[in-house]
Amino acid sequence: MLIEVNVVLKMFLPDEHVHSIFEIRPDDLKEKGIKGIITDLDNTLVAWDQKDATKEVEQWFKLMKENDIQVTIMSNNNEERVTSFSEPLNIPFIHSARKPLGQAFRQARKVMKLEKKEIVVVGDQLLTDVLGGNRANLYTILVVPIVQTDGVFTRINRKVERRLLSWFQRKGYISWEEERWKK
Ligand SMILES: [Mg+2]
Repeated sequence: MLIEVNVVLKMFLPDEHVHSIFEIRPDDLKEKGIKGIITDLDNTLVAWDQKDATKEVEQWFKLMKENDIQVTIMSNNNEERVTSFSEPLNIPFIHSARKPLGQAFRQARKVMKLEKKEIVVVGDQLLTDVLGGNRANLYTILVVPIVQTDGVFTRINRKVERRLLSWFQRKGYISWEEERWKK
């Protein structure tokens, strides 16, 4: 029984964790054979209530493009939010993705024409981004949320997430000096 619990909980465990997307660099990805990124939007690229990309985020996309690493923005948020953010950047996107369900991940992979082992999933939430990426058998990278506040639906997920993170820390699966994870 205990083993089964571990297996289930490990579906929420990211392969890697970073403080921000800017720690994700083309050279490291290439070394792993990665050719594509599926990234979350809210609290991963910018704060959930910030409409447009920052200069730094634009630069990050540009850097990936220069290194032939494809990026797809995949968000559970609505069409208006995701379209108005992504279109000016000229980055492919999927809105209303229903992560952690698998359909949007399959769709993104098809569009990018990449193998599973060539894709990383980046996001700030265990219950949507990491669980979804793990279920789809993709490499997952958890980022620290850009702001501590969230939209109303996310707040519920965060409570579950905090318990998962503290369990991972106790087990030594994850180590984070970030204040937020200690709560
Ligand atoms: Mg998010």
